[in-house]
Amino acid sequence: MKPTFTVVIPVFNEAESITEFHRRLRGMSRKAGDTWEFIYINDGSTDASPDLLRQFAQSDPCVRVIDFVRNFGHQIAVTAGLDSARGRAVIIIDADLQDPPEVIPELIARWREGNEVVFAVRAEREGETWIKELTAKVFYRLIFRITDIKIPLDTGDFRLLDEKVVAVMRQMRERHRFLRGMASWVGFRQVGVPYRRHARYAGKTKYPFSKMMRLALNAITSFSYFPLQLATYVGFVCATIAAISIPVVIVLRLTGSGAFFGQATTLISVLFLGGVQLICLGILGEYVGRIYDEVKGRPLYIVREEPRSMGKAAAGKKG
Ligand code: UDP
Ligand code: MG
Repeated sequence: MKPTFTVVIPVFNEAESITEFHRRLRGMSRKAGDTWEFIYINDGSTDASPDLLRQFAQSDPCVRVIDFVRNFGHQIAVTAGLDSARGRAVIIIDADLQDPPEVIPELIARWREGNEVVFAVRAEREGETWIKELTAKVFYRLIFRITDIKIPLDTGDFRLLDEKVVAVMRQMRERHRFLRGMASWVGFRQVGVPYRRHARYAGKTKYPFSKMMRLALNAITSFSYFPLQLATYVGFVCATIAAISIPVVIVLRLTGSGAFFGQATTLISVLFLGGVQLICLGILGEYVGRIYDEVKGRPLYIVREEPRSMGKAAAGKKG
């Protein structure tokens, strides 16, 4: 039977928090009524999380577990959840209780009003290091400025998606994913609900600085050509400087001035232009590498065993 709500929960080494998380999630869903389905994605955890998830599934018929053969990353884990979700509305939530399950009824209320994407906006963040908070703030604002679609500020993946939106997102098989951007790109009626993002219940963040940078790069390259255009802008600036300086140098030489003689000037300009060119090449490389990854067409994720009701290709590649 088709459940009304599907909750998608990516899990990577969250053994310390998922029992409490599941208890609170179940408490909320029982209070809310309706029919529910809970899809936990074990993203290659190396702790006791898989065993705990299996226990949930055994004792609760509403729980399904998708077991990845290795760590594929948070965005891919959520994608696997969206691929096999059957609910009329799908809720994406983290397993570390930073996003309180008690906010879900508020998202549902806005969905019932006819909104198709209800995203939770972090009005406050607790228990994050200042560096994480600062980088997150800068990141959201940068993305907002340079990408074509207007991704709402301070919004993570905690959100509710109508099944219509999920159906569209299932067709978007890009490898380097930035789900909140994709959820904005699709359009539909969207609305935000403010909430307080709590501190992690237990354990450490699974998004170290390097992974955050990767996500930021994916977000920028997936939704903007701005970095590529940067080369054009810098090129124009350099050409303008050259066009102005050439007659200046000629006049100086003719008037017998000693300015701009010597190796230092040459060295500086060569190093400067060399640096600019290498940076531009690197930017180009980021895009080319991504094209290469897409062209290879590998499956997005690999599931250890096909869950009973998953039906379609377990390898995450939709035909
Ligand atoms: N996660 C995952 N795969 C990863 C990293 C994280 O499935 O490679 C899960 C993690 O278990 C959690 C959610 O994604 O449920 C968000 O991760 P985390 O809380 O570490 O990120 P943060 O909230 O610090 O940005
Ligand atoms: Mg977290």
